[in-house]
Amino acid sequence: MNNLKNLRGTVDLLPDQLIKWQNVEKIILEQLSRSSIKEIRTPILEMTELFIRGIGEETDVVSKEMYTFMDRGKRSCTLRPEGTASVARALIQNGISSNTLQKLWYMGPMFRYERPQAGRQRQFHQLGVEFIGYESVRSDVEIITLAWDILGKLGIKELNLEINTLGDINDRLNFQKSFIKWLEINKNSLDLDSQRRINKNPLRILDSKNSQTKKVLENAPKLFDFLSDKSHKRYTDLKKQLEFLKIPFVENFNLVRGLDYYTHTAFEFTSGNLGSQSTVCGGGRYDNLIKQMGGPNTQAIGFAIGLERLILISGKELAVPRNTDIYIINQGLIAESLAMDLSRKLRNYDLLVELDLSGDSFSKQFKKANKLKSKSIIVIGDNEAANNEFTIRLFDKESFGNKEEVISLENDIKLENWLNNNLLLR
Ligand code: ATP
Ligand code: MG
Repeated sequence: MNNLKNLRGTVDLLPDQLIKWQNVEKIILEQLSRSSIKEIRTPILEMTELFIRGIGEETDVVSKEMYTFMDRGKRSCTLRPEGTASVARALIQNGISSNTLQKLWYMGPMFRYERPQAGRQRQFHQLGVEFIGYESVRSDVEIITLAWDILGKLGIKELNLEINTLGDINDRLNFQKSFIKWLEINKNSLDLDSQRRINKNPLRILDSKNSQTKKVLENAPKLFDFLSDKSHKRYTDLKKQLEFLKIPFVENFNLVRGLDYYTHTAFEFTSGNLGSQSTVCGGGRYDNLIKQMGGPNTQAIGFAIGLERLILISGKELAVPRNTDIYIINQGLIAESLAMDLSRKLRNYDLLVELDLSGDSFSKQFKKANKLKSKSIIVIGDNEAANNEFTIRLFDKESFGNKEEVISLENDIKLENWLNNNLLLR
């Protein structure tokens, strides 16, 4: 059994690390629920074709990064690399109507075969939000604001919001014509991947990470100059409303998502604290996706936050574990049963209760309570058990000499008073 290791790019999250994860998830879920967004859970495993059609064959995700395999029934299956395509499929399959309005979120593992590094894994986690059936600029504003507020509630500093618009299909077609002409002329200055895309999916070239290509593209025609008046107005409205809400943003005309079904608003949140993998949240409008996947014409906008990157930049205070409220020191046959019973009663008050199961000497159990920095201790030994009672007292140094309280196991009122007086109940 030597050498059994996790796969490259996957990680074990251990209990100490998960304190922060759980606190972050709790804050996120609270904010989602206050915004009346509902959860959806789709399978992690899907037909490969879903992602080919829903993300696009020409994307890096589909062409290079998917975990695809044949199952025993010879069906091509893929571990989901993102969530939007699955949500769209689930809605279509479950009978979405053309005037549906749904605000949905999902959270869970995604899989991409990439080069692992800080903030980049092969199994990672995303929180995604999708507003389905929403067309107005105000829905763009609401979803950007939601991402902003979630990141704010997590105490994230050094946050930058970048926005852009991609116009509608016609704007894009007009742009594409002159863009292709320009690409043909400048073909030799582009990287090979981009050259190959000129005829297949030229817009994807705008997404290129190649630094030489990026530099050359600075002189290319700009999609922005091809926007219709209507698209232009939509974008101006978006900016006005964000300004009104005092959400700071910068415009980045190179922020694109090079697929046909992306329209209008695109946005990204980056953080200076993340190093080179700086994008923590990416989102945009995809008015044509659901129709293209075989559903009714349905406008939509969404975003996805990478949880690993989010955890890296959220506040340290979220990694602090909850303190033990009461440590129950107990020894003796009857005492141990009474202590077990008492621990269950105390947990009903939403107290964090640790019952010592060791049977060790009292002094050893005291030491453990001390090490845990438990706020208070309860002692039940043979004497207490014989009288059907227990003693309780605060555990900090100042109160150490304080008289302890003896409480009968049946006297819940006295117990509650003690807990209240000593601020153990919230
Ligand atoms: P990147 O440019 O960093 O590869 P992307 O454009 O592929 O990002 P999206 O598909 O928009 O990312 O996913 C949304 C978010 O999910 C990203 O902003 C990032 O925070 C996170 N993410 C994407 N891929 C990974 C990964 N391999 N490991 C960890 N987080 C990731
Ligand atoms: Mg990527």
